[in-house]
Amino acid sequence: MSVLPPDHHVHTSFCGHAAGSPCDYAEAGFAQGIPSLVITDHIPAPDGYDPQTRMPPATFPQYEAAVRHAQALWPGRILFGIEADYYPGCESWLEPFLRSHPFDFVLGSIHFLGDWAFDNPTQRAGWQRRPLKTIWSEYFQLVRRMAETGWFDAAAHFDLPKKFGHRLPDSVLLELAEPALQAIRSHNMVLEINTSGLRKPIKEIYPAPALLRRACTLQIPILFGSDAHQPTEVGDQFIDAMRIARASGYERYAIFETKRRYRVHPLGGGALLPNPSEQPGSSAPGAK
Ligand SMILES: [Zn+2]
Ligand SMILES: [Zn+2]
Repeated sequence: MSVLPPDHHVHTSFCGHAAGSPCDYAEAGFAQGIPSLVITDHIPAPDGYDPQTRMPPATFPQYEAAVRHAQALWPGRILFGIEADYYPGCESWLEPFLRSHPFDFVLGSIHFLGDWAFDNPTQRAGWQRRPLKTIWSEYFQLVRRMAETGWFDAAAHFDLPKKFGHRLPDSVLLELAEPALQAIRSHNMVLEINTSGLRKPIKEIYPAPALLRRACTLQIPILFGSDAHQPTEVGDQFIDAMRIARASGYERYAIFETKRRYRVHPLGGGALLPNPSEQPGSSAPGAK
């Protein structure tokens, strides 16, 4: 088996701000040793939420058809997923939407606080309007609410507000994030290690090492995602991500298969990974 983990977070041109079809991502990913892919384009929102960054509802059948086409070409190696935003008010349509489509994997994410897209480069001025801690606190409260719905398989880019460099001290970050991590654990969600942060101004994987160590202590499983928006980004820097996971205490990662079920796989491959001497700390359970 490949030394690299599957990529659970891949966008396509259906969202209007990414390039390539599911087949383009599959070809690029498989050529570099990614064993399987979950296509997770941004969910269409019938209430008009954030229409610039997602397919319109009428296009959804074409999205599913494009994923099915790729599945036919690479049986067992492509999953039908979706990145579903959670926001107050989405409940009335989101729950029935998720229930009525045969997704293999549902990735949950938060991109808005009210009407502010805090991770949108064109809305960075919003960061000057409120105290940093207030923004982070509201964000993690939404992540907690998202987890408490029980509708999602994994939490995407868990500390996304750091994208442009708006960091908190680790102690404050851990305190604000704790209820969200507890909700993720109690609803049996998996935490995504998302390498797109390495391609953003913060130049750090989501979530930060301190959060990852805490998640490991709580025995929250992890999986890997590149958040690719072009085929060359599939599996981006996964070797580094695996090393960071190991350094945070993790010994295994989750691989989604079909119908929203996953199995765990050893993070091993030590001899093939950089810094094999970085072993999990003795305080970590390392069970996930
Ligand atoms: Zn996107
Ligand atoms: Zn994404």
